[in-house]
Amino acid sequence: HMIYLDHAATTPVPRAVVDAMYEVLTEQFGNPSSQYPLGLEMKRRVESWRRTIAGALGCDARQLFFTSCGTEGDNWAIQGAVELGRRTGKHIITTAYEHAAVLEPCKVLERQGDEVTYLQPDRAGNISLDDLEAALRPDTVLVSMMLVNNELGTVLPVAQAARLVHQKTKALVHCDAVQGFLKVPFTPKELGVDLLTVSGHKIHAPKGVGALYIRGGLKFPPMIRGGGQESGLRSGTEATAQIAAFAAAVEAGAASLEGDMAHMAALKEETLARLTAQVPGLKRVGEGTAPHILAVTLPGYKSEVIVRFLSDRGICLSSGSACHKGKPSHVYAALKLPKKELDGVLRISFSYDTTLEDVQALAEGLKAAQEQLFTSLS
Ligand code: PLP
Repeated sequence: HMIYLDHAATTPVPRAVVDAMYEVLTEQFGNPSSQYPLGLEMKRRVESWRRTIAGALGCDARQLFFTSCGTEGDNWAIQGAVELGRRTGKHIITTAYEHAAVLEPCKVLERQGDEVTYLQPDRAGNISLDDLEAALRPDTVLVSMMLVNNELGTVLPVAQAARLVHQKTKALVHCDAVQGFLKVPFTPKELGVDLLTVSGHKIHAPKGVGALYIRGGLKFPPMIRGGGQESGLRSGTEATAQIAAFAAAVEAGAASLEGDMAHMAALKEETLARLTAQVPGLKRVGEGTAPHILAVTLPGYKSEVIVRFLSDRGICLSSGSACHKGKPSHVYAALKLPKKELDGVLRISFSYDTTLEDVQALAEGLKAAQEQLFTSLS
């Protein structure tokens, strides 16, 4: 059977969540904008699913807007914040190791004349609040800082950052919480952020749904114009089945959050212990504390070769971000690792149902990889 250790890339959808979708696709298939019972009922349900997800986020349902994915939420937050800040200035601060869904919109803004400061992580993968403070300017309009780095598992100091930014400037604070949602406890209010992105497929909902939290009272520009859905901010007929599934996955994930976090944290510690004991030369990369992501390196080996070797044995993990196939990851590059270590980086990521047997299979797979790849070299 397949051993899946790449939950930071995407997650499987459990049967109960699929069942929630099925009913919405077949029986309760109304358009929420229709004025007869089938539509009115769907409208009522979409709002109830919105309340479920808002409940898990600790925000008001009126502050949550469905999107097609995390990437859309990030793009919307950045474009909207910059548009709102036009009169204040054109300076943006983010980190060098954000997801491409944040970095690419920033690059477009740079080409259009905005200025972007990229905060650099240290060797452990941490971002310094002193660097953030030094980068703040009167014309800073947006600070975008992720909650959990998707390749290192670093938990960033978003709450402290937001406090600092709001004390010193009028800038909005956006947080890409795609890898943090249902992995580390937070609410947008506790973080003090104005905008926050989540995505369904990282938390056992299907691909194709996400949400953007927009702080109450913030008059934010629309992402897509049209029929006026999502309070006129994100038009397009609601993806009712994806939203139903998103809510079902969130409900299940929120109910078992504490136990799941403890399970993954213990598994991560045991994985590191077994891999360092059983695989000579293997070491940890960064000091990320999120419970579900562990980055390691096997210096002297090429991570793509190892990933292929393991995949032949039915073990799936990542040589970095799945979004950067073939290219060296900008995240690990930002740590300025020696080339031998950079080339051998592997990302292992867990879920609530990952087991010690999965971890032991990985340890054995890595040992075999070392022996066979060594033999083929000599
Ligand atoms: N932000 C982070 C930190 C991610 O890990 C991902 C995952 O791909 C995204 C954004 C993009 O989310 P989506 O795949 O839903 O577009």
